[in-house]
Amino acid sequence: MKRVCLLAAIAMVNSGCLATVEDGRRAEADSMNPLAERYVKLVLALGQHDSDYVDAYYGPPEWRTAAETEKRPLAEIDKEAIALQQSLASAAPAAHGEEIVRLRHTYLTKQMGALRTRVAMLSGGKLTFDEESKALYDAVAPTNDPATFERTIQELGKRLPGSGSVLERYDAFRSRFIIPRDRLDATFKAAIAGCRSRTLQHITLPPSESFTVEYVTNKSWSGYNWYQGQYKSLIQVNTDLPIYVDRAIDLACHEGYPGHHVYNVLLEKNLVRDRGWVEFSVYPLFSPQSLIAEGTANFGIDVAFPSQDRVAFERSTIFPAAGLDPAGAAEYYDVLALVDRLSYAGNEAARRYINRQLDATEAASWLERYALYSPPRAAQRVRFIDQYRSYVINYNLGKDLVKQYVESQGGTASDGAKRWQMFERLISSPRLPSGLVGG
Ligand SMILES: [Zn+2]
Repeated sequence: MKRVCLLAAIAMVNSGCLATVEDGRRAEADSMNPLAERYVKLVLALGQHDSDYVDAYYGPPEWRTAAETEKRPLAEIDKEAIALQQSLASAAPAAHGEEIVRLRHTYLTKQMGALRTRVAMLSGGKLTFDEESKALYDAVAPTNDPATFERTIQELGKRLPGSGSVLERYDAFRSRFIIPRDRLDATFKAAIAGCRSRTLQHITLPPSESFTVEYVTNKSWSGYNWYQGQYKSLIQVNTDLPIYVDRAIDLACHEGYPGHHVYNVLLEKNLVRDRGWVEFSVYPLFSPQSLIAEGTANFGIDVAFPSQDRVAFERSTIFPAAGLDPAGAAEYYDVLALVDRLSYAGNEAARRYINRQLDATEAASWLERYALYSPPRAAQRVRFIDQYRSYVINYNLGKDLVKQYVESQGGTASDGAKRWQMFERLISSPRLPSGLVGG
């Protein structure tokens, strides 16, 4: 039905009818639809070579079946990808056109570049950490001198009680804030309810949206949102390692509201359903879209819970649900704020490991020393880096870029309503990382 209307619109413009400006813009957008379809099919074809690549797909099921049946070789996928890049280059929308249509074209172009990079990697091509992150995620993480991390660790050393190394004392301090296994589900449910009600005060979601939570083991990640389409997500929480109380709100916001679940719901509602832009029904993990997804999911925690609000909610709701003494909440979050300054040490470990300056054991030691990961958590993180490589930048650099962008649009912490509005606008659009800077 939709396609018939679109073709009619294009025919009207081509035949020289008196089309309105609006018709012209619509036709411009619609002329990209066949290119978008080719893109989706290429992503699905590449997914046959890389089980982590297609993170979500809810477009026509027969396209996936065809990809599975055809199992196109990498060289053939690359050839078609080059052809699609050329078609995209000659379909650039007018500079004065609707912004979202220009963003769509840029999105497809950048996503295609990343797809070809992934093809090259799967074909044996080698890139440095920064080359890879630039090609896959449209961004390069800053480099940091370990001395800056050491200064923060010294500060922590003065703050944490007990004897032993700072890592040992941090571990001992944190052990008071572990959610007991039998209280995990109740604690997450309380966190999800808090994140959801805050989100719904500012963002309208389709009434049928929902997600289910599962507890899993033996994964390299701590939580995962598998978007199913039809406004539904499956959220998995990994229980391999102890789960600290801060993870309840962090995961509920990041994976759920207003993070990945809301991001995917809004893309499905605004772009796939309302505009018929089929490219958003597939989500290739190793692509610039991931920096936006992870960055908004992490920044979304602060949007939903500005710092004092967070501590108050932890005290009143989360700590009691976890059976923990709420009196320790403020001190715990003060210490975590300091530890958060070490997050870029994780990127340094990954960069040096991927660039073969550190082996796996040395990378784990680096994480323990500069990012204060406990030994089991450092080992898990190295497994994550093995699997996802430069993807690690999407979390912290992604958050920082998203924060800067939202604030540059007026969405500062002192104006919560505007911040929500700018946040919603970003997660409803095809904007990619390089479009966050100066845009
Ligand atoms: Zn995530």
